[in-house]
Amino acid sequence: MQVDESLVRNVVQQVLARLGKDAAVPPSSNGSYQGRFGQFTGVDEAVAAAREAFERLSRASMAERKRVIDHIRRIAIEQCVELGTMEMNETKIGRLAHKIEKLKTLGERAPGVEFLRSEVFSGDHGLAVIEHAPFGVIGTITPVTHSLPTLTGNAVSMIAAGNTLVVNPHPSGKRIAAEGVRRYNQAIYRDLGIDNLIAVITEPTLETAAAIFKHRGVSLLCVTGGMAVARAALQTGKRAIVAGPGNPPVVVDETADLDRAARSIIQGGAYDNNLLCIAEKEVFVVASVFDAMLAAMERAGAVRLSAAEIAALTRVAIQSVGEGEHKHDAASKEFIGQDAAVLAKAAGRSVAPDVELLFGETDESNPFVPVEQMMPFVPFVRVRDVDEGIAKAVQYEHGFRHTAIIHSTNVNNMTKMGRAVDTTLFVKNGPCMAGLGMGGEGYTSFSIAGPTGEGITTPLTFTRERRCSMIDNLRILGK
Ligand code: NAD
Repeated sequence: MQVDESLVRNVVQQVLARLGKDAAVPPSSNGSYQGRFGQFTGVDEAVAAAREAFERLSRASMAERKRVIDHIRRIAIEQCVELGTMEMNETKIGRLAHKIEKLKTLGERAPGVEFLRSEVFSGDHGLAVIEHAPFGVIGTITPVTHSLPTLTGNAVSMIAAGNTLVVNPHPSGKRIAAEGVRRYNQAIYRDLGIDNLIAVITEPTLETAAAIFKHRGVSLLCVTGGMAVARAALQTGKRAIVAGPGNPPVVVDETADLDRAARSIIQGGAYDNNLLCIAEKEVFVVASVFDAMLAAMERAGAVRLSAAEIAALTRVAIQSVGEGEHKHDAASKEFIGQDAAVLAKAAGRSVAPDVELLFGETDESNPFVPVEQMMPFVPFVRVRDVDEGIAKAVQYEHGFRHTAIIHSTNVNNMTKMGRAVDTTLFVKNGPCMAGLGMGGEGYTSFSIAGPTGEGITTPLTFTRERRCSMIDNLRILGK
């Protein structure tokens, strides 16, 4: 009987992992990492395995690349309930239905090989063809807010472009990241005989992230997360694609369809308990429709907190962090991604468990306005007119160039705000996710590279240009 060495190795690894032992096993007898299914504790090994996978992928056809991606898509879609539930149980933030939906959406809609293209210059001196080549191994950092969904979208787009990846997931989402990677690699290996296209660090730390950042075998970085990781990636000296933090403002002017605006703000602001980086975080409403807008929010099912309740919530849900000039307000971990009912309780109010969003009037000095709260309470601030609303939106977007939203039927106001906010995503008259193709046009990615300018990432984001020139020949037009 022939024994598949890789499967034996994998079983051994899983047993060791269950026993709490270091699951790393040395390369197989032929010196390869085949059979590890992407599970690594050490960065050097992970990069070596992903490099080996890159060499193999480089010899694969485009049809085979597509087959690789189809396995990732199929598993993300077919196993979204099981994997989404595992992510919810591990991270304990957000909402189960949305954890499931996010994974399925990334499986269905992350941009794949169909996004690749070449350009041609054809003229008197022949042809120049521009092609988009892979970088190699991409060092990838993913957030806790969508651990496996971000990894899945990254993997689809990066592999579509011919790269492989080494992932340092957020420590609080490491188990679901590793499990997803194991399933993806296993399916790919069984079908195509290539393993470790995705290598995950199973015990990720800041040290392993730093080791990935400076590893010579890593050709490109893609980080998705908050300010600290964005800064760290930009200081490495390597090319980095940075999908950084957001604090998306919403402006509602006097021409808006207020009921539509309310439904949109609830849909986007409450999604996964406000964990999305694109989610509505603070709303500026023109004074003449302010009271009507608050009434529309209540009609649409959100619960309004009183000033005293907001003060009570603010005291516990926002805390001061850092020292000296670095001292600033931040969302308290205890409340990030928790249900509206949990926040309401902290505010001294009891609401039904199915309430999705809390809101209330504040002025701009309330820390919920500048802070990226990532919890389902959204402050509403009264402004004199649309110009003041736009000015405040610009101020509290903090120059992240991430996402901004307007509800209006006045195209001049939309244009004015679009110009002023200068964000990567600008959504008009819909919930934030419509800007990522969920209920709006366009494709979906959970890595939105504002600071470094690549925008909503696609396979082309993870490529470098190569030009191939034929001099004085092969142009079949003209003389
Ligand atoms: P986080 O910044 O705490 O962590 C993100 C990742 O970076 C994690 O893997 C973490 O371990 C790592 N990390 C943190 N500091 C690091 C450092 N100094 N060096 C190396 N790695 C470091 O963020 P989070 O709570 O996981 O996710 C929420 C944040 O991510 C929010 O700010 C949100 O806006 C942002 N985000 C942005 C996008 C986007 O596309 N622009 C998408 C999702 C989330």
